[in-house]
Amino acid sequence: MKAVWAEVITIGDEILYGQTLDTNTYWMGKELNIIGVKIIRKVAVGDQREEIIKALDEASQRADIILITGGLGPTKDDITKKTLADYFNTSLVEDEEVLEHIQSLFSKRNLSMNALNNAQALVPQGCTVITNTMGTAPGMWFERDDKVYVSMPGVPYEMETMMERSILPKLKSTFALPVIYHQMIQTVGIGESWLAEQIESWEDNLPPHIRLAYLPSYGRVKLRLTAVGTNRLELEDDVAEQVQKVVPKIEKYVFGYGDLTLEEAVGAILTKAGKTLAVAESCTGGFLAHTITSIPGSSRYFQGGVVAYSNNLKMNLLDVSEETLHQHGAVSEETVRAMAEGAKKNLLADFSIATSGIAGPDGGTPEKPVGTIWIAVASPQETIAKKISLSKDRLVNIRRSTVIALNMLRTAAQTALANPS
Ligand code: AMP
Ligand code: MG
Repeated sequence: MKAVWAEVITIGDEILYGQTLDTNTYWMGKELNIIGVKIIRKVAVGDQREEIIKALDEASQRADIILITGGLGPTKDDITKKTLADYFNTSLVEDEEVLEHIQSLFSKRNLSMNALNNAQALVPQGCTVITNTMGTAPGMWFERDDKVYVSMPGVPYEMETMMERSILPKLKSTFALPVIYHQMIQTVGIGESWLAEQIESWEDNLPPHIRLAYLPSYGRVKLRLTAVGTNRLELEDDVAEQVQKVVPKIEKYVFGYGDLTLEEAVGAILTKAGKTLAVAESCTGGFLAHTITSIPGSSRYFQGGVVAYSNNLKMNLLDVSEETLHQHGAVSEETVRAMAEGAKKNLLADFSIATSGIAGPDGGTPEKPVGTIWIAVASPQETIAKKISLSKDRLVNIRRSTVIALNMLRTAAQTALANPS
């Protein structure tokens, strides 16, 4: 089956100047991928006639489908519609249905229309008009030399609705598209190069219609398996077979599948076991609690937490002894263990997590450089502690140590629940 290629052109000076973040091509990339259209390139141009024409010419060399967003507003700065009319050697004519749609939108809002609003009903003669249920600027579908060109408004929700309701279905019926099926294996606690080493022989023997991608972020790596073919059920089976082969090689790092997050995985373990959790945070400053509570239903297992930045709070709320703090310092195995045990006891939980470290960018010493972070997890049976050495970037350190802490809890909870005392 021949691949169908799309190029996305986003138009607008504001995109180039960094005043608007281009979320449209991100969204379209995802949606096109789902229906089996491959993206060959994404291009951004300003509201300039020559640049738009060049972009259209170049895209037609590469792609079967050219999707355009932006530049359809009623004001003079938006020139996409006029440029498209010229590009397809046609003129702008009033479309009665579009005009009625605009009139009804205005009357619903009790607004009167001016000449600029009326001009929104002009469309290049011969194009297929795509209704914009969310706004006034219509979408436009052109066909030339077996290629399809679609122009859509830049406003993200207008474009998205138009794509979902009209354009994606129309692309599906116009082109013979393959079926693309993705499955994600979520891993944590192992870097991508080590992961790659562990699964190398499996990866080298993947069948040609299944591809593997490593998608790393903050201590986690997603393994994405993509299968391309014509029959969805067959692809699902083929991918499931590969998942079964690979997971035993990396079992201890796999926390779930699909879009599952680590905090959801931890929450599911605690919920299933009917156990509770509390946190005592120093260097993560509440981010750990925030991450845990971003999951709906976390009140079932999360008792709460203490952000104990000062030594005073570590002593008064978490029962860390003055002697421990004095002898070993706040960033130490002894302190973080005491924090975890204090949190477990005082916050009335079955499990607890504690963090204490030097998040940076300053505050390091030769023995404890910036990025030195201690994490402890207390379970009903034991307390374990681990030192990690991260970067000089404060926010990155907070995020990474949160992931590492949640993963320590995940492992500890699995062990504790498998061997109840
Ligand atoms: P326009 O169609 O050029 O009148 O754009 C309308 C609105 O949509 C403007 O506020 C733009 O900032 C916004 N917009 C245009 N293109 C994009 C894009 N690629 N991603 C997100 N927003 C956009
Ligand atoms: Mg614009």
